[in-house]
Amino acid sequence: MSIVIVGSGFSGLGMAIRLKQSGIDDFVVLERASGLGGTWRDNTYPGCACDVESHLYSYSFAPNPKWSQMWSPQAEILNYLKNCARKFGIESHLKFNCDFQGASWDESKKKWIIQTSQGELESSALISAMGALVEPALPHIKGIESFQGKIFHSARWDHGYDLEGKRVAVIGTGASAIQFVPAIAPKVKQLHLFQRTAAWIIPHPNRPLTAREHRWFERFPFLQKLWRLRIYLMHELSGLTFRHPKLSGIMKHLSSRYLERKVKDPELRKKLTPNYTIGCKRVLVSRQYFPAVQRENVELVTEPIESIHATGVKTQDGKSREVDAIILGTGFNLEEIHGVKKIRGREGKSLWEIWGPSPRAHLGTTVSGFPNLFFIFGPNTGLGHNSVMLMAEAQMNHVVATLLYMRRKNALSIEPKPEAQATFSEYVDQRMKRTVWMTGCKSWYLDSTGRNSTLWPYSVGKFRRRLRGFRPGEYLIHSNP
Ligand code: NAP
Repeated sequence: MSIVIVGSGFSGLGMAIRLKQSGIDDFVVLERASGLGGTWRDNTYPGCACDVESHLYSYSFAPNPKWSQMWSPQAEILNYLKNCARKFGIESHLKFNCDFQGASWDESKKKWIIQTSQGELESSALISAMGALVEPALPHIKGIESFQGKIFHSARWDHGYDLEGKRVAVIGTGASAIQFVPAIAPKVKQLHLFQRTAAWIIPHPNRPLTAREHRWFERFPFLQKLWRLRIYLMHELSGLTFRHPKLSGIMKHLSSRYLERKVKDPELRKKLTPNYTIGCKRVLVSRQYFPAVQRENVELVTEPIESIHATGVKTQDGKSREVDAIILGTGFNLEEIHGVKKIRGREGKSLWEIWGPSPRAHLGTTVSGFPNLFFIFGPNTGLGHNSVMLMAEAQMNHVVATLLYMRRKNALSIEPKPEAQATFSEYVDQRMKRTVWMTGCKSWYLDSTGRNSTLWPYSVGKFRRRLRGFRPGEYLIHSNP
């Protein structure tokens, strides 16, 4: 059985490792860039780190006893991924500079015909591990193209541009900006931070992990497992507040108290106070952000942006701020998520033509009419409260179980029954209605129809249990006669 995995980020690489560990060796990992790592390769902005603890934001099957900090920085995470590729023998399966351009299912051959920048491939199974937060979203602000200074997005940081002594505008105050603003604020001459919506922020007690802790984790792996379990359970517990918005008062209290303690100026505090239910947008974690915003050379601007001109940013009150550079912390464009326009199924239609703007997949992993296509981080498998690695691993294991079943039964193709997929979708949508993510804020979790097609509305434990093994009754299976 030949398999093509698209993407060599956390999920693509993990999928490759799990295949290898299961005795499936006939696979290739397509990667459009010249190195692996996905989001951890692309996001190199100053201060970039994971906001989930490293002992949980890593593969369960590849524990790293030597994380330098509880929340480790980007370079270390990228290094971890490179080490995993080496350790598990994945390097020879990686095809770099190979852009996935499209795939269509050939029913007569029962194969995927895959177009890449390096030619055509055929495979029995196609595993999409392309990630969601890939393409920078460039804001549609009047006059942005007329700006004469330096402009770049946080996910395409220009390290060749020296920010020392510069006047800088930062647009956006999301998960990325909250990390790079404190890192660049001491360098720049003046930083104008344009905030459209205030974020709920909680502090995280990051600290270096000591040499003694490293030794203990190395010598007694079960201690590291316990440590990981502790983090997992804490996050699962916090998940209750996202699923039952009435419980969000506790988290709101913690966040509000933190803001009160750290920001003394009532005017600034008011600007930094969110106006939506905590958790509706991603809750941000930082101990550096509030001090940075209160620096003499930092101005928090909440007046909406009117336009950008050759030398600066103009707000709706008519005031113009002259800057040398604009940094966009404006998030990601999800229009092409899951390769919707590139993948064509049995009827020759693309995922986009089937789904429209609201993707749906059985168990977030397979799609009716698209045989032998699997998603890692598919629709409704994101999390707002725990490590997405847990979801990705559950999907990887489910894919392996499916492929092994197919091998045992000599099956040529599988796809979910339409009714199984519809039942699962209904199960997700019904529970989603009562979560905090549907309390009225505008977030990237919602698609253009207003449906939350991004997140999983139950506990991680529930997802893992639901995806355990392969349930043949839910699938259409075509075997060799
Ligand atoms: P984001 O959370 O989508 O934030 C984008 C920011 O830009 C928001 O403050 C948004 O304001 C603002 N914005 C967008 N368009 C604008 C416009 N035209 N004018 C003014 N402001 C505008 O993007 P992100 O910070 O890059 O984070 C995206 C996701 O990446 C996160 O939710 C998270 O899942 C992931 N991430 C994770 C980590 C990690 O540590 N694990 C770190 C960084 C990012 P509004 O809120 O008003 O829309």
